[in-house]
Amino acid sequence: MKVGKDCCGCGACEQLCPKNCITFKYDSEGFLYPQVNADLCTDCGLCAGRCPITSDVKRGKNPEVYAAKYTDRDTVFNSTSGGIFISLALNVLEKGGVVFGCAYDDNLVAKHIAVESKDELYRLQSSKYVQSDTRGIYTKVKKELESGREVLFSGTGCQAAGLKAFLNKDYPNLLIADIVCHGVPSPKLFAKYIDFMGKKLGGKLTEYNFRSKEKRGWDLYYKASNDKKSKSDYGFFDAYYNAFLTCKTYRESCYSCKFANSERAGDITLADYWGIQKMHPEFFDSNGVSLVLVNSERGRKAWEEISGNVKAIPSAIEKAAVQNSNLIAPSKRPSCRDSIYDGIDGDFDLYVKTKLKFKINPKTKIKKMIPVSFKQKILKLVRK
Ligand SMILES: Cc1cc2nc3c(=O)[nH]c(=O)nc-3n(C[C@H](O)[C@H](O)[C@H](O)COP(=O)(O)OP(=O)(O)OC[C@H]3O[C@@H](n4cnc5c(N)ncnc54)[C@H](O)[C@@H]3O)c2cc1C
Repeated sequence: MKVGKDCCGCGACEQLCPKNCITFKYDSEGFLYPQVNADLCTDCGLCAGRCPITSDVKRGKNPEVYAAKYTDRDTVFNSTSGGIFISLALNVLEKGGVVFGCAYDDNLVAKHIAVESKDELYRLQSSKYVQSDTRGIYTKVKKELESGREVLFSGTGCQAAGLKAFLNKDYPNLLIADIVCHGVPSPKLFAKYIDFMGKKLGGKLTEYNFRSKEKRGWDLYYKASNDKKSKSDYGFFDAYYNAFLTCKTYRESCYSCKFANSERAGDITLADYWGIQKMHPEFFDSNGVSLVLVNSERGRKAWEEISGNVKAIPSAIEKAAVQNSNLIAPSKRPSCRDSIYDGIDGDFDLYVKTKLKFKINPKTKIKKMIPVSFKQKILKLVRK
């Protein structure tokens, strides 16, 4: 198998291999890549034949497009955008099903896990802007599907495609919700950053929410906390977050992502409806609005099932993509990506000061500090 840096790290090959001769190991940047034990490999070709990068999985075309929000505002508060994921998840759990998605473990490492109860669903809520570890998860999904349970799997486009490639069979009890994705930084970088932040706050971090709505509602605010203190700020003013938002630290494959368009591997695609103020001002909500693409019959059925708990209006890809470029194309690779991970294993304070340094001009700073909800009020006044 020769995928090299095009490998998205979905993990399908590892779980497919009949000889268990593929293991995922971290490279120097901290991303997982497959390594084949040549002594055990029989050249059966299954890994390369089913890899979602070198082969194709079925994808939806011409989706129905909506702006939407879950009606329980308290629940939406803990979701990234309009809480459509949680609405889909609750619906599956109510039918005795199981939900797979990305959660932090006790050390704030992002991993895909299975959730069986409503009380645990909060762990999957909210975006973790780092690559999630999917090792072993597709095998667990398959086991649940074959037992006849309803399954909701959520993840990035490549993870949704990875699951489809692994299963290679249509299961009527499977719903896949994929998310529009900018790209993913390495788990090693995030772990080091969490440690660095913890030291700054005087103790190991216990929480890191990339999309905290406490301070400014639906926006790009993070909240980092330990037992004693917490810090919250605008994402562009934080070294890790700024590097994420400006596309500097992604896995190499993210810059040529074949899933960053409107032909989706998921039955339903979820995203933030950035630009809702301009496209559908009457539907703006400072608590968050989701963009939803319904890509398949399965997706349509799930969408209808949650319709009693969701407010939605029709929209269009052309409108949604104006402020959501990853619906059309992958993120652009900046030239600084060549060396952005150099020095990550050395003095991390120095690494942050040099490699993750960023500049914001005062005008942008003021502009970015104005909350979306405030801008909306001004817009309303101007329109009057
Ligand atoms: C790395 C990343 C990049 C993103 N980039 C964009 C973007 O450019 N534009 C945009 O509109 N939206 C982007 N999103 C999606 C967006 O942030 C929300 O996930 C989406 O709006 C759904 O929100 P929600 O309120 O319905 O559910 P949420 O409460 O956000 O539900 C979270 C869902 O996302 C999954 N998830 C969280 N973190 C990860 C992860 N690291 N890997 C895989 N799955 C994860 C969980 O399993 C869960 O299903 C991105 C998300 C991630 C994780």
